[in-house]
This record gives sequence, structure tokens and C-alpha cells, in this order.
Amino acid sequence: MKISPEIMNLVPYKPGKPISETQREYGLKTVYKLASNENPLGPSPKALAAVHAALKSQHLYPDPSHYQFLQTLSLEWGFPTKQLAVGNGSDELIDLLTRIFCEPGEGVLTSVAAFNAYEVSAPANRAVIHKVPMTNNFRFDLPAVADYFLQNSQLKIRLIFVSNPNNPTGTFVTQAEIESFLQKVGNRDDVMIIFDEAYNEFVRSSDYASAQNYMRQYKNLIVLRTFSKIYGLAGFRLGVMIAPPEVVEVYNRVRKPFNVNDLAQVAANAALQDKEFIERSQQTCWKGLDYFYKKLEELGLPYLPSQGNFVMFDTLRDATKVNEALLRRGIIMRPLLNYGFKTQLRISVGLDHENKAAMDALAEVLKEIPPVPQN
Ligand code: PMP
Repeated sequence: MKISPEIMNLVPYKPGKPISETQREYGLKTVYKLASNENPLGPSPKALAAVHAALKSQHLYPDPSHYQFLQTLSLEWGFPTKQLAVGNGSDELIDLLTRIFCEPGEGVLTSVAAFNAYEVSAPANRAVIHKVPMTNNFRFDLPAVADYFLQNSQLKIRLIFVSNPNNPTGTFVTQAEIESFLQKVGNRDDVMIIFDEAYNEFVRSSDYASAQNYMRQYKNLIVLRTFSKIYGLAGFRLGVMIAPPEVVEVYNRVRKPFNVNDLAQVAANAALQDKEFIERSQQTCWKGLDYFYKKLEELGLPYLPSQGNFVMFDTLRDATKVNEALLRRGIIMRPLLNYGFKTQLRISVGLDHENKAAMDALAEVLKEIPPVPQN
């Protein structure tokens, strides 16, 4: 069997451990999953009602043009439908954009400890990933990213991915940083700049700006959003791209006609209009984050203040051991070894009782496992 070396060497994305698997492996009844930045409130009730009503027409293929959903999206977000496209999660958009813009051997640029999907999609599409170190407070170093791009034209970098806020660090780049970055790399015809704003709705910092604000000014800009986080629809799989019309047109040629199923379209259409649910989800997130910060401070564990619905913190111990001990207690967090973090874990905000159970379990586990020497 001859398999191409890019694919043989590809390290797959490692998703959060499912609840059912943890129950099976550890013989547990109650398991709390705080590992995949999902919405602990579940899907929006309006989305559930719409899905229920749509079940009886599931013998039909979904609308391949996503017409109704795009109409609603256009009204809600203020972009013409020719600038909007839908994917099977933003995962699909990340993958297909890499395929569209990179010829074999061309480059994709991002940061160390950026969301891992960019790094997986590159070799899967015969492209080469390049990563610039983060700042020492775990932020995307946009000036360094721009310099790397401008000084390495031989790498033929065609895409730059910026996750803002970033997963798993929860850190963000400011409006001023975005503006000076776009002044350096904006409006070039050899590279597309992709801002992945999966956690856009959870941001509390007043220094944040969505790259959507710059789409009129810069023609090589794409923004990705998802319905997996605040909208509570991760299982349905629906991501959105806001892009120049030419990019939308090409993307719609490449994607599968039925990439987003009917129930996902119907659910997202309703969730988009459920303002009360979005607000409640934000409040739940912010309250949970503040609770985590307080508890982590009490436990003496350093953490990164987060603009997402999750926190990365330092256990000061072997995180693989801490994670294993938490799993035995029915708490699923996210180990970050694949990002090179050996002592850190990431926890997603859950419901109050889940957050408390997680912090109580963590306090117990810290007593069992000795800290690693700090250098
Ligand atoms: N971007 C970022 C930054 C993410 O954290 C995630 C989910 N973990 C995604 C994109 C993918 O989301 P989805 O495919 O569910 O839309």
C-alpha cells in the first residue's frame, strides 16, 4: 500500500473524551464533561422546538443552498448572503479553505499553541504548517507573525490563521494589534488572513474587536464563526464563514452539496434568533469563569484569564497524572500535551454543580500528586 508521506505522518486532532467512554472505562454512573467548550445549558429551546417540527421531513435531502438559514444570518449579522457560507462545523471550513488556497508544498502560518485543527488540515491538504512562537504571556504575537510572513516569501505562505480568542489559551489579540497587523498583511493578493472567532460571543474585554469590522476595508480577510459554542449545537455541526464573494463562490463549488444536514440548518436558524438564550449562556459562562478563577487562586494554581468559555491552568504537576485521577472521579477535563503543555489542563465552564464538583475533585487530586520541581 502506498500512502503519501504527508498523510502517514499526520497527527490527528484529539477531541475531548466522550462521557459514555469514560463511564465504560471507569465503571462510573455520573460523569461531567468539561472538556470540549460546549454550552452546558444544552441547545436553545427554540432550536429544539424547530428540530422537533422538522423531523417528519427528514426523508428529503437538505437544501443544498442553505437558503433560509443564510437569509436569517444575513439579517442578523448584516452581511449580504453572497458573503456568507456554511460548513459542517468550522472544521470543514478550515479544511476546505486550506485545500482551496494552498497548492502542494505551499505554506499555512499560525502561532504555536493555536487551535490544533489548522495544523491537522495543512498536511491533509499537502500544505506545510509554520508556527511562530507566542508572546511569553501565551498570546498570539501578531507583529512576529507578520514579520515571519514578510521575511519568508520562499515558503509561499497562502493562509494565516489567527484564532481570536485562541483555544486552548483563552487569550486574545486587541483591536489595535489587529489594525496594525492588517496594515502590514492586508489587501495582498498572495495570502488570505483567517480570523477564527469561535468564541466571539464570550468575550468580555473592551479591547476586543471582531475582524468582521474590517471586511470592507481589506479584501483578503475571512472570518469563521461556529454554532457549536454559544448556540449549543455542537452535535449538529454547523460553522459559518464570512468572506469576499469570490471566496464564497469557490468554496460552494468545492464543498459537498449536502454538507450541512437539514436539522442543523433548522436548529441554527432558530438559535440565531433566540436572544434570551444567548444572553443566559453568556451569563452562565462569565459566572463560571469567575468561580474558576477564585477556586484556582485558592488552590494556588496559575491560570490564564480567558475570553472564551474555558480556562487553561497550570496544575504544577504532571498533567497526565492529574487528568487520570480526575477521570477516576468522573471529571473530564482536557489534557494539552499535543500543544506541548505538560503541566497544564483546560477546563470548560459547566453548570454550577459541575463546576463545583470539578474544583472539589481537583482539590483532592492535588493532595495526592506531588508538584513537579519548577525551574
Ligand atoms: N475554532 C476554534 C478556535 C475551536 O476551538 C473550535 C472547536 N473546538 C473550532 C474552531 C471548531 O468548531 P466546530 O467545528 O465545532 O464549528
